[in-house]
Amino acid sequence: MDVRGAVQTIRRITPSSRTKNVFYQRSRLVGMSTQEAVGVGAGDLGRDSWDAVVVGAGTAGCYAAATIADAGYDVVIIERKSPEEAGHIACGDALKGADTFPDAIPKSQLEPAFTNTGVDHGRFEIPQEDTVLEIPVPGELAVVDRWTYGRKVIEGAADAGATFHYDTVVQDVRQTDDGTVTGVDAIRKGTPRTYDAEIVVDGAGALSILQDKADLADSTFDTNVTYSQFCSAYREIVHVDEPVEWSDALVFKPTERAAGYLWYFPRTETEINAGLGFQMTEEPMHLVDDLKRDLRNRAEFQGARVEDKLGAAIPTRRPYDSAVHPGFVAVGDAAGHVNPTTGGGIAGAAYAGTYAAEQAIEAMEQGTVDEDVLWRYNERVMDHFGARYAALDVYNILSTAVDIDELMGLLAAMPGEQIAEALYSGSANLGWGLKIKALLKARGHYGTVWNLYKTKQRADELLSHYEDYPSSPAGFDTWQAERDRLMESVYETTGADPKY
Ligand SMILES: Cc1cc2nc3c(=O)[nH]c(=O)nc-3n(C[C@H](O)[C@H](O)[C@H](O)COP(=O)(O)OP(=O)(O)OC[C@H]3O[C@@H](n4cnc5c(N)ncnc54)[C@H](O)[C@@H]3O)c2cc1C
Repeated sequence: MDVRGAVQTIRRITPSSRTKNVFYQRSRLVGMSTQEAVGVGAGDLGRDSWDAVVVGAGTAGCYAAATIADAGYDVVIIERKSPEEAGHIACGDALKGADTFPDAIPKSQLEPAFTNTGVDHGRFEIPQEDTVLEIPVPGELAVVDRWTYGRKVIEGAADAGATFHYDTVVQDVRQTDDGTVTGVDAIRKGTPRTYDAEIVVDGAGALSILQDKADLADSTFDTNVTYSQFCSAYREIVHVDEPVEWSDALVFKPTERAAGYLWYFPRTETEINAGLGFQMTEEPMHLVDDLKRDLRNRAEFQGARVEDKLGAAIPTRRPYDSAVHPGFVAVGDAAGHVNPTTGGGIAGAAYAGTYAAEQAIEAMEQGTVDEDVLWRYNERVMDHFGARYAALDVYNILSTAVDIDELMGLLAAMPGEQIAEALYSGSANLGWGLKIKALLKARGHYGTVWNLYKTKQRADELLSHYEDYPSSPAGFDTWQAERDRLMESVYETTGADPKY
């Protein structure tokens, strides 16, 4: 299946005018006047030359623009959506790491969007085993009203001094003969627009068109990106009359077919984000029908009302090996900055946007936008979360090769704390007592236990290699060759089809 076809099929489920009314109601709820909420930061529509151009008013783009504006540079965010629709993003609304956001848009500014801060564990429903696992979620977590959050991030970038050009779709990337990116071509309401800049930040999300259009072949920029590395996901916002019993938990459940999972994340006791996704290596799932079927079978959703429907692709892959090219950096989903086992990408997007912007500022101050100067951005991403996500991707790869019932049987037998640790850290350590207990419970699943044990060794080797990420582009080819060798052994151990 062509990935763009798949994603467009999902995106066609567009918000209705009813959804827009909900938006206007929301803007009142979060204390914004409609005037403030619509077109915040918009201006300078005729201008074609900027210090920096950021494409996409999502988390990554807004943090990047806020950081650049804070440093006194002129930055414009180009956003294809209208001022009313900007910030409305398909998401499960679970914000992991809600306690530590970069300063450019402080956490205090986002907090009005945190509708549920009482969640402290995951609830894994395993119908095959008639089991429910309660697994602690380490760190701070908030379930958010995602649209309000989106507006708050936009407001934060505007407060910092970023300009917004809405209804403007980027269609091409401008490059010099030597390949340096110097701006973008866009279209606004039928009129072509040109943007020149010292540096372009690609925050256009998963499957960014900028990377299809730009010639990035002569740099380290990762172009090894295909549909099988993405997950196709869809969610609805559902209202129920009676409070759900699990309002302090993120509920997960394996889907009936294909490697994927359903989720129920409580924004409040009566407003639930219900969704599901599957890895695009699998036979396509009928996301809307499959969700509807599960909702119908759950007593707590009898008589429920659906308020909003959205879907999109998630890069459930390792982070880009390099997200820099002369004059160009990619951030957030546009650079694979998502935890590939949970699909969580908000926190990664905020940090990636910040790190990329700090390096863009350094480049502008030095008067050169070469890869050498931008490189530190790659290093900071790998150091903070990229290495961990690359190791977690090994388990994602494993999940495409093992029998899902077998894996669920094993999961049901494992101690919850260790599953949590493995989910978030990319590795897990079992004490001897727990090891013996787990092994006794895992009787009948020893083949899978052995498989998991060998896979963990591969993941640990990979993690340690990512910890030696090169400090300049000069060491990149050698590092990448060794990483590819390690990935060969991952495919050999897991029996999975190569993903990269
Ligand atoms: C169904 C689903 C559930 C998810 N659940 C969670 C979750 O619970 N927790 C979590 O942390 N993460 C979750 N994620 C992932 C998370 O939403 C993303 O990782 C995060 O939004 C990435 O932010 P971003 O700024 O990189 O991209 P985005 O938020 O996608 O922003 C990209 C922006 O670029 C704009 N744009 C795109 N192309 C163009 C163009 N050509 N011209 C102009 N503008 C353009 C878009 O309109 C958009 O505003 C989920 C994703 C999906 C799809």
